[in-house]
Amino acid sequence: MKKLTMDTIVNLCKNRGFVFQGSEIYGGFANTWDFGPVGVELKNNIKRAWWKRFVQEDPNCYGVDAAILMNPKVWEASGHVQNFGDPKMDCKNCKTRHRADTIIENFSKGTVSAEGMTNEEMEKYIEEHDIKCPICGKRDWTQIRKFNPMFTTSRNMVGDDKDIVYLRPETCQGEYVNFLNVQRTMRAKVPFAIAQIGKSFRNEITPGNFLFRTVEFEQMELQMFCKQDNSIDIYNSYKEKALKFVEDLGLKAENLRFHDHDKLAHYAKAACDIQFNFPIGWQELNGIHNRGNWDLSRHSEFSGKNMDYLDPFTNEKFTPNVVEYSIGADRLTLAVLCQAYDEETLENGETRIVMHLSPAIAPFKVAVLPLQKILSEKAKEVYSILSKEFMCDYDEAGSIGKRYRRQDEIGTPYCVTIDFETLDNETVTIRDRDSMEQIRININDLCDYINKKIKFN
Ligand code: ATP
Repeated sequence: MKKLTMDTIVNLCKNRGFVFQGSEIYGGFANTWDFGPVGVELKNNIKRAWWKRFVQEDPNCYGVDAAILMNPKVWEASGHVQNFGDPKMDCKNCKTRHRADTIIENFSKGTVSAEGMTNEEMEKYIEEHDIKCPICGKRDWTQIRKFNPMFTTSRNMVGDDKDIVYLRPETCQGEYVNFLNVQRTMRAKVPFAIAQIGKSFRNEITPGNFLFRTVEFEQMELQMFCKQDNSIDIYNSYKEKALKFVEDLGLKAENLRFHDHDKLAHYAKAACDIQFNFPIGWQELNGIHNRGNWDLSRHSEFSGKNMDYLDPFTNEKFTPNVVEYSIGADRLTLAVLCQAYDEETLENGETRIVMHLSPAIAPFKVAVLPLQKILSEKAKEVYSILSKEFMCDYDEAGSIGKRYRRQDEIGTPYCVTIDFETLDNETVTIRDRDSMEQIRININDLCDYINKKIKFN
């Protein structure tokens, strides 16, 4: 297959009901995307697989679903209001705006991380390395300024400054502010984690590349609260767990790599990304951070609530450290789509597009297809049995070959075909998406057969 481009994925998504442009009939709304009937199933399955792996299967991890709108003081404690923001500079020549850290990281091909650099250090690096504007090729930069990436809204109709409310730019604060609640109600012992999946909003300077960087996206992330002594081991174990998770979803090892950060935020002890080889190159898929006790200390300071933990075994009192693991559901969906896409040349010389999605996350597990319309009554009977167990598609329009192709393109792992023999002996054919082989099976055995193949372990 020739090199995959983002345009190929965008077109497939648009034409097969995975993802549509946001507000399309109004000409769109930049960098927003709507998941369609096929895409929503895929993304939900990815989120379910993450929750199963990291919350359901871990007795020391507790889920929450915190409010998007939080007390504005939260964002003072987190540093977003005062210090945090993307370092931004304008090209005076072509009047375009850029992130200084991204410019440095792209220039150094990822060997230098600008995270943790001050504005002055970044300006010096750009000057010393003569880094030019990627748009016009001139080096005529303004000073670097911090840019507030938070969207704001207002609590009251009057809308003066005092009423400003922020749309959360990260979900993790919902876990920090609930540390005491979860610890008390679940009688949780450190180390334990709080996890959630939810929307975040970022006024990104350089959004783009389809689902890769959007202004509204979902994060799946957890904060593991631990003792400082354990934090490195826990950090390392999450690096491995995070890698295994995306491999189990079908991302291939050759398209994944760790990227350890050299420069760290002043409070952090270690940080690393897992990168995926997207059509736009190697880019961050998720982050794992060993954040020291910065987060809970800051919330203690700003809320006035003591967030220390008293170890019931040692009687030691301390402010727990945090190991964070965070991955974007939309960005991961994009990676999964890119990995799954394939164009195969068949024996008869035809090409088929097939999405080799892991059956566990495929949007539809099975499609029910009557060979001819005259068989639709029996086919609907089979559909009603299967749809009680799985997401199923039903299609009776067009030639059977075309219907198989359509299911291949949305990654449906199994197609069940109802033919005239079905009426005689209650058997159907079941076709495997990847091998295209078909076997005959009794209708009563279908659910068991499919269930065995689609488990996410
Ligand atoms: P990046 O360096 O790509 O901006 P980040 O380091 O700011 O990401 P985090 O704040 O650590 O990202 O967020 C955790 C995860 O959330 C990222 O690894 C990514 O999967 C996802 N994510 C972050 N920003 C966006 C965005 N604008 N659009 C889609 N997903 C995002």
